[in-house]
Amino acid sequence: MWIITLRINTVKRKRGNTVLNKVSALMDDTAKIDNDTFSRIEEKIYRDKARAEIALNSISDAVICTDMYGNIDYLNIAAEIMTGWSRKEANGCPIGKVFKIINGVTRKPSRNPVDLVLRSNEPRKLAADTVLITRDDREVAIEDSASPIHNWDGKLTGVVIVFHDVSDAKALTLKMAYFAQHDFLTNLPNRVLLNDRIAHAITSAKRSGKQLAVLFLDLDNFKHINDSLGHETGDKLLQSVTKRLSACMRSSDTVSRQGGDEFIILLEEGKNGEDAATIADKIQATLTLPHTINKRELHISTSIGISVYPSDGQDAETLIKSADTAMYHAKKKGRNNYQFFENDMNIRAVDRQLIETNLRIAIDKQEFFLLYQPKVNLITGKIAGAEALLRWMHPKLGEVAPEKFVAIAEDSGLIVPIGRWVLREACAYAKQWMEVSLVAMPIAVNISAQEFHQKNFVTRVRTILKDTGLEAHYLELEITESTLMRDAVASTEILRELKNLGVQLAVDDFGTGYSSLSYLKQFPIDVLKIDQSFVHDIAIATDSGIIVSAVIGMGNNLKLRVVAEGVENQTQLTFLKARHCEEGQGYFFSKPLTSAQFTALLEASISPWNNDLAVGYR
Ligand code: C2E
Ligand code: MG
Ligand code: MG
Repeated sequence: MWIITLRINTVKRKRGNTVLNKVSALMDDTAKIDNDTFSRIEEKIYRDKARAEIALNSISDAVICTDMYGNIDYLNIAAEIMTGWSRKEANGCPIGKVFKIINGVTRKPSRNPVDLVLRSNEPRKLAADTVLITRDDREVAIEDSASPIHNWDGKLTGVVIVFHDVSDAKALTLKMAYFAQHDFLTNLPNRVLLNDRIAHAITSAKRSGKQLAVLFLDLDNFKHINDSLGHETGDKLLQSVTKRLSACMRSSDTVSRQGGDEFIILLEEGKNGEDAATIADKIQATLTLPHTINKRELHISTSIGISVYPSDGQDAETLIKSADTAMYHAKKKGRNNYQFFENDMNIRAVDRQLIETNLRIAIDKQEFFLLYQPKVNLITGKIAGAEALLRWMHPKLGEVAPEKFVAIAEDSGLIVPIGRWVLREACAYAKQWMEVSLVAMPIAVNISAQEFHQKNFVTRVRTILKDTGLEAHYLELEITESTLMRDAVASTEILRELKNLGVQLAVDDFGTGYSSLSYLKQFPIDVLKIDQSFVHDIAIATDSGIIVSAVIGMGNNLKLRVVAEGVENQTQLTFLKARHCEEGQGYFFSKPLTSAQFTALLEASISPWNNDLAVGYR
């Protein structure tokens, strides 16, 4: 409406009478206009014009008007600023000179909307992606419309273009579109974009008859680093992992983050299982090198599952699921390795889900119980202690072995409440057996990596000892070698705090990790438990015999108690005794026993060891 008023005022003065007559006609005043009326109308027109001018200059939208030949006859201040043309300079110029526009995508000049409106006499919206080229050659994304200007007769007299800068909104939209497809922390493609890329890769592989591979990676010990060293360190570690992963890949491959510590890699079309294995090796080698974060060296490893198109899935979702299943298989195989998907793994994937769901309620339902496996002094043949071993009796699944659920409990964080229950139960039972049978000896409890690195772990141990009344030196905590070595510096500190409490510390599964001697000397430990795989092979593989001898020798030199795990026969026992191994544990002496069986055994106080007792639980 303002614009129409403005047009009235641009009409040449010599036509003034006609104009005013027309205006008075509009005002329903057909009477003869006297001088007073004329002045009043003229004043009103002047006021309206001034008001229109102020209004047009105070809006942020740019306004350009042309006559019906497409020559500019008006620019408001916003238009002057945006185009770089002053009203004076622009006046009379063809619209195309001042309002130069291109299509931002094709980079081709766009048809000027003034032409279109003059031709059609209809309002027009500017095409999407219109970019204005300013007088000093800057590019500004703009949006809006052009409309015809009509005089009082309804005759087309020109065009008005109203537009505004949408660069910020465009940038925001682009940013939003980017983050809808990328991970905020690492800038890697997220699952949405990955699915899209896999779908494209499948279409293309189908056409060419080639294969492609998907790798599912999960960092083995990320959760405890995140929990113990904080999220900031965790985030930096993920960024460091991202950098190394990207460096292992070609630009045609896609590295994506799925959230948490999971990454999925799509290898370009034509890559087969063999290529995937080579890349998995490369990834594992590069990720295990220490990551220096906040001046601290962090060690991580990764488990990788591999699926290959077309054998392991026909679509993105199935391929990812197959690789995920294979990854869990890799975890179960001891982590830091890769596995190819095999069809029978699917059943295990279902198992895993089922187990996790049931684990969540198992504590409340009191489905856990502990078995106790005696440790025997190899010189005297007497029981030297016991290791508490967790069991889960599920009403439908039956008895579930730790190897089936401990890794799942660790991954889901459930190991923390479960471990707390184990510790309390074992300490309470040990206190009780000592009171009943008057046999004083330590109870060993397994501690998982996640529990060990929990901030309040030491406090929790102290509280449980206090609550149960067990003296600290009768509690022995078994921590695996790989848990200790994941972050040797942090581990040393936690071990010291535990040592200050007075508890005994054992390195479990010794020989399977990669501890350096210097750390071993530095850790305030009391016991080395030789992993059962070495004990098992004593008679058949010379290597194992040599390792066992070396560990016993080293342990004795470091004044550590050495316990051989998994002693199953006389040959092994003879070998161990000959090398002065202090303690043994294994089916040869006894299978893990229920608390009642173990108490009975203690009460019978049989010594020297009687092989009949090997017929224990099961
Ligand atoms: P581990 O701590 O090394 O425990 C020794 C494992 O070897 C036990 O298996 C035990 O039953 C088994 N074993 C003992 N003697 C022999 C033998 O002569 N031959 C063979 N073949 N095996 C023998 P289990 O009870 O199935 O536990 C497996 C693992 O699960 C344990 O290995 C430990 O790492 C973990 N685990 C068990 N209980 C707990 C727990 O309460 N908390 C945590 N975090 N982990 C636990
Ligand atoms: Mg153990
Ligand atoms: Mg062990």
